[in-house]
Amino acid sequence: MPVHAVAPRSAREITHYDLDTDVLVVGYGCAGAAAAFEAARAGARVLVLDRAGGPGGSSAMSGGEIYLGGGTPIQRACGFDDTPEDMAAYLNAALGPGADADKIADYCEHSVEHFHWLVDRGVPFKPSLWDAPAWVPPTDDGLMWLGENSWPFTEIARPAPRGHRPTANDFGGRLLMQCLTDAVESAGVRTLFDTCATTLIRTDDGAITGVVARRYGRESTIRVRRGCVLTTGGFVDNDEMLAAHAPLLLGHTKVSAGTDDGSGIRMAQAAGAAVRHMATGQVGISLIPGLAARGIVVNDKGVRFVNEDTYPGRIGQAALFTQGMRVWVVLDEEAFEAVPEQQRWGVRPTHVADTAEELGAAMGLPPGALDATLRRYNEFAAGGTDPDQHKAARWLRPLRSPLAAVDVRAGIRPPAESGDRRGTGASVFTLGGLHTDRQGRVLDLDATPIPGLFAAGRAAVNLHGLGYISGTSLGDGTFFGRRAGRAAAQPH
Ligand SMILES: Cc1cc2nc3c(=O)[nH]c(=O)nc-3n(C[C@H](O)[C@H](O)[C@H](O)COP(=O)(O)OP(=O)(O)OC[C@H]3O[C@@H](n4cnc5c(N)ncnc54)[C@H](O)[C@@H]3O)c2cc1C
Repeated sequence: MPVHAVAPRSAREITHYDLDTDVLVVGYGCAGAAAAFEAARAGARVLVLDRAGGPGGSSAMSGGEIYLGGGTPIQRACGFDDTPEDMAAYLNAALGPGADADKIADYCEHSVEHFHWLVDRGVPFKPSLWDAPAWVPPTDDGLMWLGENSWPFTEIARPAPRGHRPTANDFGGRLLMQCLTDAVESAGVRTLFDTCATTLIRTDDGAITGVVARRYGRESTIRVRRGCVLTTGGFVDNDEMLAAHAPLLLGHTKVSAGTDDGSGIRMAQAAGAAVRHMATGQVGISLIPGLAARGIVVNDKGVRFVNEDTYPGRIGQAALFTQGMRVWVVLDEEAFEAVPEQQRWGVRPTHVADTAEELGAAMGLPPGALDATLRRYNEFAAGGTDPDQHKAARWLRPLRSPLAAVDVRAGIRPPAESGDRRGTGASVFTLGGLHTDRQGRVLDLDATPIPGLFAAGRAAVNLHGLGYISGTSLGDGTFFGRRAGRAAAQPH
């Protein structure tokens, strides 16, 4: 992907504008849609542009899980009491270290309102619970656990499931985006596709008053009278940026629509914006959570290093950042058969053996290591507690021969994908981006808002520190996208 020069253009040099708008939203994924809708509802003339041939971005490819709680009607219908305080305690722990406690408190306090906002835009949620670890459940259940009922979080906050899913079997991102783009259209927002924003236009006193874009090889200029909102996604598709900021994420499957080249982040940085948490990312590990929870996950010493029933992205971060992806799921036949084939996403054992000794040898582990780990685990499992990794009693059962191992580097094939299984064992996207305040205003290195510049979604950092939980991306993208759109629509 070509990387353009991003130094801002001086407004003094621009003699002609091709387009004129109050609010310009750059990038039409979930954050851009939320921003465009709210800006139009606030009375502004809004233009949203996207480099792709239509709206959607990564948001439309996604699982559609949205992190909501604090007592939504879906949670209550499924029999769960939840409070903004419990939700915030969980998110502060799960998204840290470095999570933004103020933004998390704000997000949790207004989460029920945000649920209703989504429902009012036509996003359907069914009041039923998928009650097992999964990346994306194969059903249309509207609620799922996302690590809240796993250690250490059970000791930090009262558990409640908060993964809200639009009513679509499997991946719900397309339905979510359909609802949001319908809402944007009906709000009277103008759209422009196949148009890539390349640089910001800036006045001498530092205010952003326009954008330069390219369309079919031709440059055009857009005058922005109130605010420009950058919702261009993250930077996982830009290997130069990964090498500079997040080298551990290099070389893995990229979880994106292919347009996450960090262009919005770079444009804003060039205009003085600060960035945060650029090294971190979500790590989708190539394991089936239902299999991992029923078995054990070991490293290349044959040692467990995480509770296998936790949110699988936590296993992924631990596997990539501390174990170099040399990680296996070890399980027995009963555990394998407990997960229906359709939910195994093409995963098969890479090693099978009659004894732990033989299996460990086939996996290349130190002699005796896997045998020792399994003896210890089986003893704990028989007693119903796991003092080493604190897996919940529900998932503890001694594992019996014959045994199997799945090398996570063999990959998985989610139902939406065809062809070979993908794999280095990790599928990643970035979490770092522009430093913003609660209104989505982009901040400079002195934490002062840059006039006329706003951001949301993966181009910005809102809730996240180093940790990630599914649903927080579509969740904070739409929540803070709305804020950014409203703030950008204010006349100044
Ligand atoms: C397979 C998959 C499953 C996922 N599942 C979930 C999930 O269940 N829950 C969850 O919360 N998250 C999930 N995610 C992550 C989530 O989808 C993204 O992090 C989120 O959609 C980002 O939203 P966004 O609005 O910031 O960016 P996007 O939706 O990617 O939109 C950004 C848009 O900006 C455009 N753009 C970029 N640069 C420019 C430019 N210079 N000029 C013009 N346009 C530009 C792009 O073309 C794109 O359309 C998943 C992602 C994938 C790929």
